[in-house]
Amino acid sequence: MEFLLFVMALTIYFFGRSIGAFFLGWILTALFSLFFPIIKVVNSSYARWDKLPTIQQYLELNPSCKAQRGITCKVCNSSSIRNWGIAGPDHKYRIFLCNHCDSDLYKK
Ligand SMILES: [Zn+2]
Repeated sequence: MEFLLFVMALTIYFFGRSIGAFFLGWILTALFSLFFPIIKVVNSSYARWDKLPTIQQYLELNPSCKAQRGITCKVCNSSSIRNWGIAGPDHKYRIFLCNHCDSDLYKK
């Protein structure tokens, strides 16, 4: 990173301000187009995670979903529930979705 800044400083020194501004603009554009979609996706997933109830709240709101063998979907009664990490398989924020009807059920 320091080397890159050094090269940029030399470029600006030798070729004048306009080409320096051009390089800076190009680098910023590349960084933004690379990272902005990732940030947007994680933020919308976080908002989705944030508004879901916890497993205790889910069972309090939907007492009939506590089956003999695990928890069932409040929409379609399926007991097949998927455990999904909002930003990758090992992410600490988990959303539990119904495998049958794709409803968001609760979070962990
Ligand atoms: Zn369902």
